[in-house]
Amino acid sequence: MKYHVKNILFLVAVRTFFLSFLSLGAQNKTINTPPNIIVIFADDLGYGDLGCYGHPTINTPSLDKMAAEGLRFTQFYVGASVCTPSRAALLTGRLPIRSGMAGSDSSGNVLYPRSTGGLPASEITIAEALREKDYQSAIIGKWHLGHKEGFLPLNHGFDYWFGIPYSNDMIPPRYKTAPLLPLYENEKVIESDPDQRLLTKRYTEKAIHFITENKDRPFFLYYPNNFPHTPLYASDDFQNKSRRGLYGDVVEELDWSVGEILKTLKSLGIAENTLVIFTSDNGPWLLRDVEGGSAGLLYEGKSSSYEGGYRVPAIAWWPGTIKAGETTASVAATMDIYATALKLADVELSKDRKIDGSDLYPLLTDSKKEVRDIVYYYTRHQLYAVRKGAWKAHFTTRPSYKKEVPPKEHVPPLLFNIENDPSEQYEVGQYHPEIIEELKKLFEAHLNDIEPVISQLDLGY
Ligand code: MG
Repeated sequence: MKYHVKNILFLVAVRTFFLSFLSLGAQNKTINTPPNIIVIFADDLGYGDLGCYGHPTINTPSLDKMAAEGLRFTQFYVGASVCTPSRAALLTGRLPIRSGMAGSDSSGNVLYPRSTGGLPASEITIAEALREKDYQSAIIGKWHLGHKEGFLPLNHGFDYWFGIPYSNDMIPPRYKTAPLLPLYENEKVIESDPDQRLLTKRYTEKAIHFITENKDRPFFLYYPNNFPHTPLYASDDFQNKSRRGLYGDVVEELDWSVGEILKTLKSLGIAENTLVIFTSDNGPWLLRDVEGGSAGLLYEGKSSSYEGGYRVPAIAWWPGTIKAGETTASVAATMDIYATALKLADVELSKDRKIDGSDLYPLLTDSKKEVRDIVYYYTRHQLYAVRKGAWKAHFTTRPSYKKEVPPKEHVPPLLFNIENDPSEQYEVGQYHPEIIEELKKLFEAHLNDIEPVISQLDLGY
């Protein structure tokens, strides 16, 4: 009898050991589940347009809260200061000049309804790369990387798309030969000329639906809302509410949308396994006057190579991984999101091409870390300026894109210390010839590293 009891105790002990071993395995599995990645990409939102970036009359409680719970960047850059190349840079981690998504002398700045080119099939987007680890990917919003057959989101690794193919102003009468604005679901046009006042609400619903459907598996959600690019539209709930007028209404609705997404992540219990990055594709469209945004203390806006064109608001949020309420002045860029996403998913960067981004994870977890110190500022296919550390040299400048104002070359280049002088007001080249020399070398070395490719923006232009 005694022997029998001992045997049972032994079996119980063995069972307990194996069960605890199994549960340890299960725990590890949870820890090792690659995180979900969400990129919310506003369109033409300026550096100064959010409450947490100092706007006096636009209310952005959700984004302010996101910043209070996460990491806010003060020196965060886009890969180009206009829509198409900026989006290409974000999704491929490469300067648009390498992928053919930068404009040429004979093209425009972006793709237009009559354009026949698009992001080449050889480019690997975040969505495509993450497929290797069984991520489900969706784009909700504006694509603007080619709308002809073969160039749409489902050709580039996305499993789902709801949104518009290019900017919301690319419609008649402004664009005479363009069709009414098409609204796509996957590869089908489901509506023509959708009510733009309802777009942000519809995008939000689709985004929440996608997150909820995929809560038990890794996903990548790319949410490029097409606002506050003009023409501006807000739903009845937001119209005439902001002290900043219609532009403020639109930004406040976008803010609401971000809040709904973060709330959804929390209520589904997946916030701690989801990295969310909010940023903008380029600076404010100053040519739109009061319907365009503000770059705050930065000079210039969309399409220029001054800071107001290239530097944008950015907030990273990942409860439990990113410390709450931090701000960083470390330089980072949308192109870094590519390398970060692939690293988090444990996907190797393709070795057959140059990737221009760095993994942001060290900076996300320690706001003092530096992950890059160089920024290249292009206008279409031409390198206009280079930043290294605090110094920025302008080799060519042009005011916000206007066909009648030609670019101006600077020999020697104009030099600014943009940490002392973020508004680029005080040119200091004469005091620092050695820094000008260093930046000139960097400029030339970079150009030697670029292999010429056909500009997709030229096709059909
Ligand atoms: Mg834009």
